[in-house]
Amino acid sequence: MDKIISLCKRRGFIFQSSEIYGGLSNTWDYAPYGVELKNNLKRAWWKSVVYQRDDCLGMDAAILMHPKVWEASGHVANFFDLKSDCKGCKKRFKTEDLKGSKVCPECGGELTEGKPFNLMFKTHQGPVEETSSIVYLRPETAQGMFVNFANILDAKHPKLPFGMAQIGKAFRNEITPGNFTFRTREFEQMEVEYFVKPEDAEQKLQEWIDYRFNWYLNLGMNKDNLRLRPHAKDELAHYAKACVDIEYRFPFNTRGAAGIEEGSWSELEGVANRTDYDLMQHEKSSGKDMSYFDEETKTRIHPYIIEPSGGVDRSVLAFLVNAYFEEKVKDEKRVVLKLHHDLAPVKIAVLPLLRNRPEIVDLARKITQDLKKTFVTVYDDTGSIGKLYRRQDEVGTLKCLTVDVQTLEDKQVTVRDRDTMLQDRVGIDRLKEYFREKFND
Ligand code: ATP
Repeated sequence: MDKIISLCKRRGFIFQSSEIYGGLSNTWDYAPYGVELKNNLKRAWWKSVVYQRDDCLGMDAAILMHPKVWEASGHVANFFDLKSDCKGCKKRFKTEDLKGSKVCPECGGELTEGKPFNLMFKTHQGPVEETSSIVYLRPETAQGMFVNFANILDAKHPKLPFGMAQIGKAFRNEITPGNFTFRTREFEQMEVEYFVKPEDAEQKLQEWIDYRFNWYLNLGMNKDNLRLRPHAKDELAHYAKACVDIEYRFPFNTRGAAGIEEGSWSELEGVANRTDYDLMQHEKSSGKDMSYFDEETKTRIHPYIIEPSGGVDRSVLAFLVNAYFEEKVKDEKRVVLKLHHDLAPVKIAVLPLLRNRPEIVDLARKITQDLKKTFVTVYDDTGSIGKLYRRQDEVGTLKCLTVDVQTLEDKQVTVRDRDTMLQDRVGIDRLKEYFREKFND
């Protein structure tokens, strides 16, 4: 993990938030390469759950919602962790992590009994701070989709089974955030709420588990580091009937429901059967009809909801870990990020071999400008070719293109592959076609 964290800072993937003020703990900013990687990951998710299916509709609901939403959803009453404080060093722990111990793991001091601590951030809407103005920063994106269920039926008339998909920020006042971007108080979720007939719920749950598991594999996740873990009954969230986590083996020890003994298997995504809990709760609380008219049986039903809920930041971190390799090349260490071509922040780097030859530099810049119209492309002439390659390898750039003296005569450039380091000679007029072919396989 230290190597990944250092690479992220050194090369510009992830910075600590407010660092010049000593940093805000466990809060991170995505830097130039990080934001590209994160956007690529979100695009890959959206493509897979919205564009490549016929049954899911995109949404982008507001972060602030009517406070009654969180009463109806059960979050005001149930969304808490137990916390214990050390009477000596004043450190705070999640009671669950202490596994029954009454002694502070840091200083041996006495711990208080576990007290409930609601994880929702509360703030006030409007200029007056009074009880009636309380709003919450949403702890999940899901509710923004549930409360729009009737609107979607009216606007789009979808037939069961169908889903809504959304990516957005969520906030949880976690007692023990940590492990870089793995657990933070502000994070992004990518969630599908998939509405099904109650009798189909079990089968659809399994289909989504498989669909989501394969998404990670198709983007290059090593299958030895990915597994499914069904929840035990006593671990289930207040709304869930069944849940299976997709877990990744991170190079750190997190608590995780599986316990620290299991090492570093930690949740990337949960796929849950939320039953009709949410629709029924909102129907009761708002007085609005949240049912669906089934044309076949001519009856009104409350669909069950299958929810694949993943974390964007956790996925980004897992893909970074998965892609990090150190190799020996000609007695030198090569650090390379072997990110999938859909995820790599930069697709092509154009590198002139001689930066003091204006014809070469001009041609290289012209090629860059042209490629930029189609692919994320950068130009770099600020070092020796060896140094430029190393820099691009470390951030996962797929192809390095060099312009040399020969290019001026034969109108061909050298294209080097990040993973194999093999080189092709390609005509300038064929470059776009060549890259399109390489990035689409
Ligand atoms: P955990 O057990 O790790 O606290 P959870 O089971 O509470 O997670 P869910 O409520 O199922 O998480 O949220 C869905 C997804 O959102 C998680 O699988 C995770 O990827 C992401 N997520 C949840 N909490 C955080 C957090 N504090 N920081 C980063 N990502 C998070």
